[in-house]
Amino acid sequence: MTPPPIPVALRRRRGQAELDEANRRLEHATPAEIVAWAHRRFGRRLALTASFADTVLIDIATSTAPDIEVVFLDTGFHFAETLSTVRRAMERYRLNLTVLRPDADAADVWASGSEACCAARKVEPLDRYLAAGFDAWLSGVRRADHPGRAGTPIVSVDRRGLVKVNPLANVTDDEYERYVAEHDVIVNTLAFDGYASIGCWPCTEPSAEGRAGRWAGAKTECGLHL
Ligand code: SF4
Repeated sequence: MTPPPIPVALRRRRGQAELDEANRRLEHATPAEIVAWAHRRFGRRLALTASFADTVLIDIATSTAPDIEVVFLDTGFHFAETLSTVRRAMERYRLNLTVLRPDADAADVWASGSEACCAARKVEPLDRYLAAGFDAWLSGVRRADHPGRAGTPIVSVDRRGLVKVNPLANVTDDEYERYVAEHDVIVNTLAFDGYASIGCWPCTEPSAEGRAGRWAGAKTECGLHL
């Protein structure tokens, strides 16, 4: 049964001791064990955000929680290959998918710059959505993604007061690639065209590794994970 919602004030007071204990227990756990812990702890008030660069986290999470709510931020600027990956994932996993779209007059990157565009098309829609119905969310952030993510904890409280769980935080590149091969995970075909990281088409270029191809190196995060 899903635990009752946790009031925002209580979320913000959630003790550091509880987080520290969760991080201690989960630091060497497998991604599946971390997802299982989060699902037990938060039930239906847990969502998963997916960028559809591949379906590793979806594959792991739906094995434990087949009906977990998967959230995709449709910025209006995704590559056709990314939208195709969403369709393929729907067919394979029968996802409980929610697609969030920006307001019709949302800032765009050309007129307003990438900070305002990411804020209007990614950060604000997700903030509104999570605040309305969730206590916790799963993200696919890994420490190996980028030096700026090297300190990513397994569990933290984000700036919204929600619990953010990163089940893949301690997964290395080799382990990640092994999981993709062994589980025949769906991979965005742009990865085979030299895109190590995949975001919106105006802001993504091919790159050999990490997030160097995002925003022409001018920034490395859109604001979702800050
Ligand atoms: S990645 Fe680029 S196009 Fe996508 S929301 Fe951010 S600034 Fe806009």
